[in-house]
Amino acid sequence: MAKKARLVVIGNGMAGIRTVEELLKMAPDLYEITVFGDEPHPNYNRILLTPVLAGEMRLEETILNDHDWYAEHGITLRTGSPVAKIDRVRRKVITEQGETVPYDRILIATGAAAALAPIPGKDLPGVYSYRDMRDVEALTQVSAEGGEAVIIGAGLLGLEVAHGLNARGMQVTVVHRRAWPLDKQLDARGGAMLQQAMEARGIRFLLERESAAVLGTDRVEGLQFQDGSSIPARIVVMTVGIRPRIALAKDAGLACEQGILVSDTLQTYDPRIYAVGECVQHRGMTYGLVAPLFEQAKVAANHLAEYGRMRYEGSVTSTKLKVTGIELFSAGDFLGGEDTEELTLLDAHQGIYKKVVLQNSKIKGILLYGDTSIGPWLFEHLRQESDISTMRDHLLFGETHLGDAGHSGASQAARLPDSAEICGCNGVSKGQIVHAIREGLFTVEEVRKCTKASASCGSCTGLVEQLLMSTLGGVYDGSARKKAICACTDYTHQEVRDAIRKEKLLSVRETFRFLGWRNPGGCASCRPAVNYYVRAAWPAEGKDDPSARFINERAHANIQKDGTYSVVPRIYGGVTTPAELKRIAEVAERHAVPMVKFTGGQRLDLLGVAKEKLPVIWAELDMPSGHAYGKALRTVKSCVGKEFCRFGVQDSTQLAIDLEKNLERMWAPHKVKLAASGCPRNCAESTIKDVGVIGVDSGWEIYVGGNGGMKVRAADLLTKVKTEAEVIEISKAFLQMYREDAQYLERTAPWVERVGLERIKARVVDDLEQRKALAQALDFAIAQEKDPWAEAVAGRLDIHAGPLRRISA
Ligand SMILES: Cc1cc2nc3c(=O)[nH]c(=O)nc-3n(C[C@H](O)[C@H](O)[C@H](O)COP(=O)(O)OP(=O)(O)OC[C@H]3O[C@@H](n4cnc5c(N)ncnc54)[C@H](O)[C@@H]3O)c2cc1C
Ligand code: SF4
Repeated sequence: MAKKARLVVIGNGMAGIRTVEELLKMAPDLYEITVFGDEPHPNYNRILLTPVLAGEMRLEETILNDHDWYAEHGITLRTGSPVAKIDRVRRKVITEQGETVPYDRILIATGAAAALAPIPGKDLPGVYSYRDMRDVEALTQVSAEGGEAVIIGAGLLGLEVAHGLNARGMQVTVVHRRAWPLDKQLDARGGAMLQQAMEARGIRFLLERESAAVLGTDRVEGLQFQDGSSIPARIVVMTVGIRPRIALAKDAGLACEQGILVSDTLQTYDPRIYAVGECVQHRGMTYGLVAPLFEQAKVAANHLAEYGRMRYEGSVTSTKLKVTGIELFSAGDFLGGEDTEELTLLDAHQGIYKKVVLQNSKIKGILLYGDTSIGPWLFEHLRQESDISTMRDHLLFGETHLGDAGHSGASQAARLPDSAEICGCNGVSKGQIVHAIREGLFTVEEVRKCTKASASCGSCTGLVEQLLMSTLGGVYDGSARKKAICACTDYTHQEVRDAIRKEKLLSVRETFRFLGWRNPGGCASCRPAVNYYVRAAWPAEGKDDPSARFINERAHANIQKDGTYSVVPRIYGGVTTPAELKRIAEVAERHAVPMVKFTGGQRLDLLGVAKEKLPVIWAELDMPSGHAYGKALRTVKSCVGKEFCRFGVQDSTQLAIDLEKNLERMWAPHKVKLAASGCPRNCAESTIKDVGVIGVDSGWEIYVGGNGGMKVRAADLLTKVKTEAEVIEISKAFLQMYREDAQYLERTAPWVERVGLERIKARVVDDLEQRKALAQALDFAIAQEKDPWAEAVAGRLDIHAGPLRRISA
């Protein structure tokens, strides 16, 4: 057998090992690989150091490739073994311990080191940098005793370390020489909002201060500024930038400037030596984020594999801040200049600020604070240099408006092009994820393992879930049962529900605390679900957390794509009166409501209402909320029925009114729609409703689990009954079982398929005692709910409550 070529990798970090992974995919047998790392660990995810410092994750969970991985791929790993010299003449590398290893090719991936501010006292005990596991271990240890921590530098790392030490109970002050934090990622307004949010958590800022010296004799005692003032400090953490680690390459005679100079093939000036990661300089640029390094890794691997086809032409980067509960996305030139224009949206009350900088109808910069959901979509247009003139009006609201988007809101990621970057940390595109799902993945965990998407900061988990939903359709619902609610915990929906019931957990916060949520503030996936589970289990005592609800449920109206809202009052069974119609018309006229429209569910919709006008319109309408915006009972549609229709055999209008009056204000895992038809001609379309009733000569047929919309499903016949009272009781029992059992955001259609009609029948039809108990439980839950519009009009409900993303731990 021909002898393999020898590849020596110097640097066992994120870029180096990613290159090896890519290489193994293309040419698994080409090289005999030896990896040298000067840290004592196998390759770990440096990005996750902040969650570890904040106590949200354990160190072991950051390991990307454990020792077995190296062994399985025949790679020799030397940890704790820094390379001291590259002898290019003899083609050998020599370690500090004196080991000599010959090479045919070298990959240098030595990363960068934290820079220290060049001030007196910088070497005193108690001064820390923030770069690797050793730093996190040291900071974790020292923070146990509390005291004042002073962070120099309010960049991404500075704020993350501030968050981590604050979470560990230290009194944290961030010192920054500029006028606002994150000045490279935010403008003054965004910076002020961020500062306010962090101050609300107890972190202090001293801005426009130039550090002059670390004070202390034997160890740190304080920090002095150039103006002569000083503050006390038990520890000082310096996060003032990074320096590419190039000494080894420089000594070996390779051309270096700021970093090791590489061509578009990631080759250094020595054709046998490649370099990737933070240590390189390409076309004048150095990078300090993983996404560009992973792009480099692909190209370097391609050339090491001797394919020689790819070129690296530089990267456009975007940044996010990994501080629990603070959403921030920034990319490109977000400050703009004389020849650019800006689109901005500011909702200071909700802490949302969006800014897009345009030049000749192309996106040049993006800044999103408070709500970053449209970040990947905008970023894709920035990268593609798309002409956005036709969507300029909607740009700040994203491609889809924020209301219901089909079954489970899965359309946002589905509409992105394949090239769109979903996971910024690991540089994984939508196309790669969808391809992997089609190859046989069913859960976020599997996608994470296979593609690395959502394996780092976790902020793209929602998008990955959307791709699973849109790619797998119903199959995803089935497998979802076995997976954790989201990346914040390992518990499944069912386990969380069980704990809430068994331990009588009465709030989202209590639940997170009891179950040891990894991310103490939760995320946009778990907070609404847990809030629903708490309220469903404990309707009287459970605390509703409005900040854990989606925007529509917080505002009690549906937000439209132009930022206005729609108002749908409840009209029981779709039956109204001239007086009611007159009142609606007068309100619409008085407030110049741009559009009045009948909905698909036979209700009247006043569209285009500004948020501040909602309470006055609700007051003047003097009608209950139609809950057209919520995961709740929507409408009970009716046909004409036997009173007027010559075919009618039952009074479907009256039944629809009665059903709606019995079920209004019912919250559920997802929206719920009912219908009643007066005869089998089924004019109210009862067979595509969550509960549909059809009048027959002998009484009523009850159907369940039907659905119109994106994925049509004909309802199953649950049973036949004689009286209206039975219809109401069985409908209630069915809906209560659904409320107690279904996963949040699971419609009745997939739930019925998952649970099976027989099991449902046994409880809600055959077992009279259980049927009654379920119906009574629903009555009790509904009795605890008040009409939200009346509450808001009376000033007892705040429709401006903050969004779920900003809730602190
Ligand atoms: C706390 C923290 C949070 C971060 N968060 C994010 C984030 O959210 N998003 C993001 O995109 N990026 C983030 N980054 C940046 C990201 O981690 C780096 O860009 C990435 O790790 C760089 O990869 P690398 O392989 O070039 O360097 P490294 O990961 O540093 O790997 C280089 C390795 O080489 C070793 N080495 C150096 N010299 C030698 C030698 N002579 N011999 C042997 N081994 C050597 C080093 O010890 C190190 O283990 C974060 C960084 C930190 C420190
Ligand atoms: S379903 Fe029957 S009763 Fe109702 S309107 Fe149609 S034909 Fe008439």
